[in-house]
This record gives sequence, structure tokens and C-alpha cells, in this order.
Amino acid sequence: MSDARRAVRHNLRFENHSTAVVQEEGQTRPWPVRVPTGETTVTCACGLDTGAIPTDNARMLYEQHRYLIRDEIAANG
Ligand SMILES: [Zn+2]
Repeated sequence: MSDARRAVRHNLRFENHSTAVVQEEGQTRPWPVRVPTGETTVTCACGLDTGAIPTDNARMLYEQHRYLIRDEIAANG
């Protein structure tokens, strides 16, 4: 078993938000399609929760948190 006292639980998640849009023109797709809203939420089990933010920002925060997790693992390993 690893040292539980030092373990920080992370479970990084990247959720793209999308919205259902019914396309009426042309009737080639009469069913709703999922269209990205351009917003994304990044969450992690450690308590990180960005809320819905622009996807570009979310990508940046996601990468930053991944580095942070890597550094913690490196420091505790
Ligand atoms: Zn985390």
C-alpha cells in the first residue's frame, strides 16, 4: 500500500458542453444534433471546479492541473 497520508486524490475531468439543435433546413437531419456551446467545465476530485468557461481557457486550466498532479506525484513518490 502507498502512503495514504500523502496521497492527494485527483480525478481530472474535462466536459465539453453542447446543446441540442434541431436542423430544419434541407430536412437531411430532422433529428436534433449536438452542437458545442464553446464552453467547457473542468473538475477534479481534489475540489477543482471551473464552472462553465470558454473551452480555450478550460484547456489551459486542464493542462495546468495535469502538471500540478504530475509534480505532486513526483514530490510524493
Ligand atoms: Zn486535482
